Amino acid sequence: MKIYGYGRQNITPEDIEAVVGVLRSDFLSQGPKIKEFESAICEYTGAKHCVVVANATAALHLSMMALGVGPGDEVITTPLTFMASANCIGYVGGTVKFADVEPETANIDVEEIKKRLSARTKAIIPVHYAGQSCDMAAIGNLARERGIFVVEDASHAIGSDCNGVKVGGCAHSDAAVFSFHPVKNMTTGEGGAITTNNHELHEKLLLLRSHAMVKNDPQLTDVHGKWFYEMHRPGFNYRMTDLQAALGLSQLMRIEKFKEKRRRIVSLYKKMFAEDSRISFLDERDYSNACFHLCPALVDFEKLKIDKKKFFDDLWATGLHLQVHYIPVHWFSYYQNLGFSRGDFPKAEKYYEKTISLPLYPDLSDGEVGYIAGTFLRILGNA
Ligand SMILES: *Cc1c(COP(=O)(O)O)cnc(C)c1O
Repeated sequence: MKIYGYGRQNITPEDIEAVVGVLRSDFLSQGPKIKEFESAICEYTGAKHCVVVANATAALHLSMMALGVGPGDEVITTPLTFMASANCIGYVGGTVKFADVEPETANIDVEEIKKRLSARTKAIIPVHYAGQSCDMAAIGNLARERGIFVVEDASHAIGSDCNGVKVGGCAHSDAAVFSFHPVKNMTTGEGGAITTNNHELHEKLLLLRSHAMVKNDPQLTDVHGKWFYEMHRPGFNYRMTDLQAALGLSQLMRIEKFKEKRRRIVSLYKKMFAEDSRISFLDERDYSNACFHLCPALVDFEKLKIDKKKFFDDLWATGLHLQVHYIPVHWFSYYQNLGFSRGDFPKAEKYYEKTISLPLYPDLSDGEVGYIAGTFLRILGNA
């Protein structure tokens, strides 16, 4: 029985050659592939600067640090995301504020953000759920008016467009973060990137990525010697390797192909489920042209005889090892201990009850998509 997860990588012989090429070279890390990959991401997204790092969680952490978020500062994000989007706020001592989502897109709702703003609000972290950009023009305007920072968690959204420009170009944000985990739209094994148009922020991110070591500074080396380096504050080792960057460069060349395939699979699912009133899908906004990372099927379990747990067990028994994105972050005991309760964000919670992420990745053939949809419907039919 073939097992289908919700996402997986696409690897070609060219990808393998790119990585092997680095293995044969002088530098496995801190070599030329890092800058090449960063330049390619800048060129692709239109951002002025890019810093690649070990993963998107590190990217979010560094973004919070570099923007100076700290104790007493509040940062607003969505409860319908992977835990890392919120956890990064706590890493630097900031306070997490959640704002509920729009049911039609599952993205953070700008009106809900407005309700959470206070004198202490320092930043907003919108998450481009399933690859569809949030309403960045509205969020950007709000942030500019209030003098607060915006860091896009674009972990799902490399390849996506918002208002005709690439996500990551930072037209309405201070920075955007990408993830290159194998389930995401493209991969480096593990990896992440931060794009920004802010020169000062870029410099800070570069320092923090590598222990905040001040190296090759003529003001130091001319006086003390060529070996000399300094540190003003502790940073991290959040570096990406050249092996990963070479894979990333090779993958980035196919991102538009991936996007086309992902959009095709989403439209196939929508067609195949069109007749069944118990299943619905998210809307795509006019300003969006998403490289879909997820294809959430929203199942109305109130119309079924079985619950979601049983439905999942039956799916798993047929080889469909699907996932749910996401358990609302404020449901985790850590956040409950901080004072959040179930029921605080009803739209995110209602969405969670319904959602199941269908398999979505470039290697799926049309036949497999048909098989998956047929199996899903058959189990629903029995339910
Ligand atoms: C995957 C993901 C992350 C974390 O990415 P890593 O590269 O695994 O650290 C953060 N935010 C969102 C929304 C994600 O989907």
